[in-house]
Amino acid sequence: MMLEPKVLICDEPVSSLDVSVQAQILNLLEQTKTEFGLTMIFIAHNMAVVKNISDRVMVMYLGKVCEIAPSRDMENQARHPYSRLLLSSIPDPDVLRGEAEATPTIEGDLPSPLNPPSGCRFRTRCPLATDQCAAEEPLLREVDADHYVACHHV
Ligand code: SF4
Repeated sequence: MMLEPKVLICDEPVSSLDVSVQAQILNLLEQTKTEFGLTMIFIAHNMAVVKNISDRVMVMYLGKVCEIAPSRDMENQARHPYSRLLLSSIPDPDVLRGEAEATPTIEGDLPSPLNPPSGCRFRTRCPLATDQCAAEEPLLREVDADHYVACHHV
């Protein structure tokens, strides 16, 4: 911070911290962002954390962009099957109390990035995959204002 950067890249800054310390670090990052007028790129696997700290969210799978959207859209209107499964993996107190149905989880193993699947890289784990998904790589396209998705079936 002594160099007064314009961009701060935070790579998994809270992944190994317990929840109370996570909250302190996230508050500190928010304050720092505002105080120094920073652009912050926040990299994490925890969607609950990402959607709360970010203005825009980009979801990537095996090195490819699946979806880009404002945070509020990502939370309420995620379109890509991988984004939707990631969001459904956030622990839900109603499910934990047995008061709601558990949502689907991501099945299967992560393929090797050195030998990724043909077409859409998510197809080996996607519940909506078709033959087209194996044959053609889906391109990122705008589906709503400032909302981009790379999927043949959105
Ligand atoms: S392109 Fe096909 S495999 Fe890829 S996310 Fe969309 S439906 Fe699933």
